[in-house]
Formats: sequence, structure tokens, C-alpha cells
Amino acid sequence: MLTPKEKAEEVLRENNLSKVPIDVVSLAQRYGFSVELNNQLLSNVKGRMEIDPAKQRKSIEIGPAAKNYEKSREVIAHELGHYFIHYRDSQKAEFRSDDTNDVQERESDEFARTLLMPEVNTKKAFQFYEKNQERRAEMIGAICGLFAVSEDFVKKRMEELKIALV
Ligand SMILES: [Zn+2]
Repeated sequence: MLTPKEKAEEVLRENNLSKVPIDVVSLAQRYGFSVELNNQLLSNVKGRMEIDPAKQRKSIEIGPAAKNYEKSREVIAHELGHYFIHYRDSQKAEFRSDDTNDVQERESDEFARTLLMPEVNTKKAFQFYEKNQERRAEMIGAICGLFAVSEDFVKKRMEELKIALV
């Protein structure tokens, strides 16, 4: 079985996604998902992914806990992680995502980080800004803009790829 990272890299390859920011909404739609905001979800819920084969329904909903554009993108990528890693074909399924630290949540987060910040693009971007000797805060801000993700997300990805700034 592929690791979450390997699975995300496979999805990027199969969809010819090599430029950032990754268009995660189009990607979800390509796999048949509708993507919607849903304020009715509980306040701690970031997102929900639901598949109902009988009704031919596949949806990703973004909850109140994902408040801005960047967080919404991260949630969609995370829910796609559940789809590619945990979903079994033709079954009815529902995943609700919050900040609980269980295995499936961690795996989906890892998938999302690789999907939205592919390793090659991320390393290249950091090298570029390092060469230009930007200050640390400005550099992280620029990386957030380039990949359209939040600062927390960038910092976690930096830890994962062992990118340290001086
Ligand atoms: Zn989740």
C-alpha cells in the first residue's frame, strides 16, 4: 500500500499537476465531488466528505472551523486524502474532520501537505527566496501566497521536509 505522501504524489502525476497553487477545487470536481460551504456543521468541524453511491452523491463540505480561503483549500485537500487513502470503492461513507489526532486524520493531513505543497516545488521556492535573502517572516509570507495555504500549514510542511531557516 502507498503511504499518504506517495498517494498524493501519484494523484499529482496522474492529473499532470506540476504548477502551484494546486487547483484543488477543480481536482475534487474531476473526481465527481461537489464542493460547498456549510455553516450548519458543528463549530469544531473543518470539513465533511460524504459519498452515497445509491444517490450518486459525492460531496465535500467546508465547515465553520475553516474560516478563510487558504484553510478551505487545506480542508478540501484533507478530505480528498480520506477519499484516496481510506475510502473503499462503492461503499457508502462519511468522514467528519476536526482537530482530533487519530491515525486517519494524521494520514489525511500528510496527504494534504504533499498535495498542496509538492516536495519539488516547495524546495525550489525556498531556495529561490533564500538566494534573494528575504527576511524569515517575509519569506514565509511569500511561500503562503505562492502555494495559497496558511502559515501553520507552511510551518508543518517545513518541519516535514526539514527545511530550516537561518
Ligand atoms: Zn479528516
